[in-house]
Amino acid sequence: MKAEPEAQRRLLDLQALDTALAQLAHRRKNLPELAELAALAREISALSDERVRAQVDVDDLDRDITRIERDVDTVRMRLAKDQQRIDAGTGPARELTALQHEVVSLKRRQSDLEDSELELMEKREAAQATFEEITARRDATLAKREATELKRDQTLAEIAKEEEFKAAGRGPLAADLPADLVALYTRIRDSSGGIGAALLQGGRCGGCRLDVSGSEKARLRAAAPDEIVRCEECSRIMIRTSESGL
Ligand SMILES: [Zn+2]
Repeated sequence: MKAEPEAQRRLLDLQALDTALAQLAHRRKNLPELAELAALAREISALSDERVRAQVDVDDLDRDITRIERDVDTVRMRLAKDQQRIDAGTGPARELTALQHEVVSLKRRQSDLEDSELELMEKREAAQATFEEITARRDATLAKREATELKRDQTLAEIAKEEEFKAAGRGPLAADLPADLVALYTRIRDSSGGIGAALLQGGRCGGCRLDVSGSEKARLRAAAPDEIVRCEECSRIMIRTSESGL
């Protein structure tokens, strides 16, 4: 294939734009914010589960406290009733003695229930503190996620802007070059890690970074300037300039 030396040199400009575009695409896919957001999502999910469990603990204790309070009320009412009957002093002495025994036992029961209630209320306070601590951690993580999303979106917008700029330069440049040259370049670029054309500089291929052999140099020197030459090692298009060391 043949192409004007100027067209060949401009292939390097096209390559530079394609390399920049590839780097932008790579940057977009590997934004540190993406890994950070995945980690934050896992953290938020774990904290939400933990928060539900903490809420259940508080609710369970609330239910236990309500039940015990009802029991205390029942005992208090019974005590008041017994006391009334004792105070009235009616009925047989045997019955009065039985009532007095019951009052003693009811008071013990009331005291036991109140001790249990106190214990439960302390537990509830601790459970509530745990719930609030988890909620605060979750809220902080949610805020962190929001900030990270904002940062990600800003970076994506920057990348999109740069891509637009590079693409705007690439279009006319590619259109201006011989179609068969661009097609060859594109084919090599796509099969060779994104580099289709490289400068031959100081006797070294800019694509594979290998020095060309002596016999290869002779072949390159003999090739006409408009001849498309390719690296023996990596098959990429080698662009010859005064820096090529031939
Ligand atoms: Zn090479």
